[in-house]
Amino acid sequence: MKGLTLLRNGTTEDLEVRDDLAIPFFGDDEVLVKVSASTLNRVDQVLIRGYPGLALNFPQVLGADIAGEIAEMGKNVSGWKRGDKVSVYPLVACQQCALCQEGKPNLCEHFNYFGMHRPGGYAEYVPVPARNLASLPAGVDAAAAASIGVAGITALHALNMNNDLKPGSSLMIWGATGGVGTLMIQLAKLRGLEVIATTRQQDQAETLGRLGADHILDSNDEKIMEKVGALYPSGVDQVIDYVGPATFPTSFQLLKKGGTMTLCGILTGMETTLSIHQTYFRHLRIQGVYLGTEQEYHELLALLAAKSITVPIAARHPLSTGKQALQDFGHKNHLGKVIIEAS
Ligand SMILES: [Zn+2]
Repeated sequence: MKGLTLLRNGTTEDLEVRDDLAIPFFGDDEVLVKVSASTLNRVDQVLIRGYPGLALNFPQVLGADIAGEIAEMGKNVSGWKRGDKVSVYPLVACQQCALCQEGKPNLCEHFNYFGMHRPGGYAEYVPVPARNLASLPAGVDAAAAASIGVAGITALHALNMNNDLKPGSSLMIWGATGGVGTLMIQLAKLRGLEVIATTRQQDQAETLGRLGADHILDSNDEKIMEKVGALYPSGVDQVIDYVGPATFPTSFQLLKKGGTMTLCGILTGMETTLSIHQTYFRHLRIQGVYLGTEQEYHELLALLAAKSITVPIAARHPLSTGKQALQDFGHKNHLGKVIIEAS
């Protein structure tokens, strides 16, 4: 089968489109999904460089998001049939660790992730545990369903983790033109929040406004602190930061007393310094978020089906140009998700 593989850790030059890959093995409790759509995520760039503490199984097929149809089924699988159109909750929990037993499988100590610990969606076929499958609702296409995997559950979980948010609360998102940002704006507006979106792409400001962003600022503006301060003199209730050390000090300064900083990415590095004094003195909460729950994934599918949220599509690529898609990712003037169409 055809697939986009990473041959070794390094750069996007170490990606290779191959058409001689074996169709992957699937277990008795798994199905083999014929992939229609997968999407690029920022984690791909971290995986290509080398994910901290993780050894990939080279040649590794990347791709955490999956939508397609069931091609084959393991002998223990029931309730599904060949040809069913499905999408996939991207986190595979072990079902056995203490956290899984506590009913928190999204915090599983031994979780697996497509395109990281197991084969991913940038290929014609991918094995998927049956318990991770969701039926594709009527009116939701594969590209949209794939897009709400990693990005959607991260965005929704970041909001659900903060019980202090009320209509009128303020939320700031760095780099709002990406998958997490474009979905986060819409999910925040459904809750009546005020949204400050930043982007380096000022020609995308109008589209961010159409998605619901109340204030759109230039990420590179040296006066961004003053501008947000003018809008919210007491500070912002929640800042979503997947950029990392480059934006952390500004995010920290901009928080309201009692505010929440949500960390969900390491694009510019893994470590930063933190004022312990300011953290307790201002009652700040630093919240890490990594994906979300299966229930949140189903909630997002329902929101898509009801047309309460939409997925802006920046570009569509067949597998054959997937390497180019990853080379362009984060550099081109994109808004929304970049789709890899396997068939
Ligand atoms: Zn577990």
